[in-house]
Amino acid sequence: MLKLFLPNEHVKSIFDIQPAILKQKGIKGIITDLDNTLVAWDVKDATPEVIQWFKLMKDNDIKVTIISNNKQERVKVFSEPLGTPFIFSARKPLSRAFKSVAQQMEMRKDEIVVIGDQLLTDVLGGNFAGFYTILVVPIVQTDGKITKFNRKIERRILNYMRRKGKISWEE
Ligand SMILES: [Mg+2]
Repeated sequence: MLKLFLPNEHVKSIFDIQPAILKQKGIKGIITDLDNTLVAWDVKDATPEVIQWFKLMKDNDIKVTIISNNKQERVKVFSEPLGTPFIFSARKPLSRAFKSVAQQMEMRKDEIVVIGDQLLTDVLGGNFAGFYTILVVPIVQTDGKITKFNRKIERRILNYMRRKGKISWEE
């Protein structure tokens, strides 16, 4: 059961995720979370670095889709200028949004990575749906209301995993 909360990989930020490494693994698609993964949850637009990261993926034929549990307005305003497909109100960790993106991308599950900052939504959802998952350190430590609750549970799981030696990085 706890294995479902364990990411395949953990990195500091999305910028550690580079096309060359993905291609080595046969990855052609990325499903990424928005809030606290790409930008802080209260930042409206993509930063120049994020814009650059999206361009880099595009230049390398790696498709990116944003899946967020946040509302339409937030996700749309962020995603549209990037020209990237998106799903809002995704209800992660439920599998539906993940699976429909894989279909849209016309890729196998093992050709897609799921990136996010939360164990209870991104990692659990990605794992449960059968994808390779990468956990990033949240961009800021503050969160919206629902996330605050999730973080409490998450902290317990992370502490447990650290004790068991399953997770080794420090935040
Ligand atoms: Mg997030």
